[in-house]
Amino acid sequence: MKYIILVPDGAADYPVEEYSNKTPLEVANLENIREIERRSEIGLIKTLFDDMDYGSDVANMTILGYDPKKYLTGRGALEALALDINLQRNDVAFRCNFITVQNNIIISYNADNITTEESRSLIKELNERFNHIGKFYTGIGYRNIFVTKLDVEEIKTYPPHDIVGKNIYNYLIEPRNNPKIKELNDMIIESRKVLEPHEINKHRKKRGKKPANMIWLWGQGRKPEAMSFYDKYKLKAGVAAEVIVIKGIGKLLHMEVPNIPGATGSFDTNYDNLAKYAIELLKRNDLVFIHVESPDEAGHEGDFELKVKCLEEIDRRIVGHILNKINEITDDFKLAILPDHPTPVKIRTHTGDPVPYLIYSSNKNIKNCLKFCERDARNGKFLEGLNFMRYFLKF
Ligand SMILES: [Zn+2]
Repeated sequence: MKYIILVPDGAADYPVEEYSNKTPLEVANLENIREIERRSEIGLIKTLFDDMDYGSDVANMTILGYDPKKYLTGRGALEALALDINLQRNDVAFRCNFITVQNNIIISYNADNITTEESRSLIKELNERFNHIGKFYTGIGYRNIFVTKLDVEEIKTYPPHDIVGKNIYNYLIEPRNNPKIKELNDMIIESRKVLEPHEINKHRKKRGKKPANMIWLWGQGRKPEAMSFYDKYKLKAGVAAEVIVIKGIGKLLHMEVPNIPGATGSFDTNYDNLAKYAIELLKRNDLVFIHVESPDEAGHEGDFELKVKCLEEIDRRIVGHILNKINEITDDFKLAILPDHPTPVKIRTHTGDPVPYLIYSSNKNIKNCLKFCERDARNGKFLEGLNFMRYFLKF
């Protein structure tokens, strides 16, 4: 038996008036998913908790059956794992976004989708300027890491995608009276002097792109520890993912985590390579966890049609490829498709609503007339996120 879990990040949504009160999942032309959904179970699953951040780190840990309250120390620490950064005691790893600021207002949480190569040059500059405070590491695109020694336990930070249009001075790191935190806040403010005049930003402005003129630190955490996926489920597993937070979860659980060429975590990502690597992973493993970032990004951009297009690409180039190739590996497989959380285009951030799931088994003869969408899923079963893995494996 082989197991495939496909997570289109942030794919769930709310009905949008301008599109006949439909959601992107309802509007998208999903030929492959529509083909298998007639023989699948459709239902709703709650992947988030109302007393925790509505983050992808929380949701994906939950889907994998690991209680985020117990195992999650902060997204930055997971992402550090993905970059093979060896965190020491007293180290805190922050996610470091490149952002765009105008008159102290955040106008882009990802510096207009800055590339990894551009980030690399800026990170080099930051390390030269601020090496007495900590160390910056290049990640993927605008998603980078900053590590520093810190003995403050209760640190509060704000995800930049939640404060677009807001004044930076109201959302700096807290508690602001702590001298070490003040040093970090001063560094954030000063980063503008280093970044604004940088060559990379001159080129970006010439090309009509917003400059990456400030850093933003958030999602901090200390080194996490958890039981391996194999020890927990007795299954060998791999992760086909683009973004470092998901790769970090894979590394934490000792799953196989390849670097996938062209997997950018943005709209230009190489969906074909994600699918190919997923199939390769499945040859050597019992289970593959595939995570695709683009629908979430489209949700944060507030772009309905772009989100529809991302879902169609995932259906055609990932689901299609897997259904084509799986028979070369096995006749016996289960496939689950579920978003980790909604990122509704109307509100442009994550919400904690339950999301639709689809579970298909090559061994089961199900007759189903529910569609894989938010509306129909309400007429199916309701699962608690932490029960998903056991449910899926036994299905
Ligand atoms: Zn997510």
